[in-house]
Amino acid sequence: MAVTYQGRCHCGAITVEHTSDIPPAEAEVRECQCSFCRLHGARAVSDPAGQVRFTEQTPGTLNRYSFGLKTADFVLCRNCGTYMGCILTDGEAAYGIVNIRTLNDKALFTSQPIAADYDSEDQSGRIARRKSKWTPAVVIAGLASLLD
Ligand SMILES: [Zn+2]
Repeated sequence: MAVTYQGRCHCGAITVEHTSDIPPAEAEVRECQCSFCRLHGARAVSDPAGQVRFTEQTPGTLNRYSFGLKTADFVLCRNCGTYMGCILTDGEAAYGIVNIRTLNDKALFTSQPIAADYDSEDQSGRIARRKSKWTPAVVIAGLASLLD
């Protein structure tokens, strides 16, 4: 049965919901070895059959950051700097991962983290991997952003 795991940034301006029917103790936990994720001590999970939803509780606080091949956006809170997860957008579709450090129930994700090094991927390979392994994603912007 699908369970929704709630999380938030440090200041609460952005919330995240990761919905999955994979028991958290069996979810693959990945420690991406890129310079950004290592800096943040990030641990990611995803579920292609689930959903991840980032919601801007305070308008204008969801900051997207990209670097390197610029194939995805890292989601950060503009207020407190918390790294929430990452999103790949492809037309109408979006795929994401959640940084489980932000989840209230992070302690339930007990799998030994896998050190994941994606340096050898080219751009198309990276996008293909994310589409097959990442979670269908939704971003809900605050009211102010919608009026921009
Ligand atoms: Zn914040």
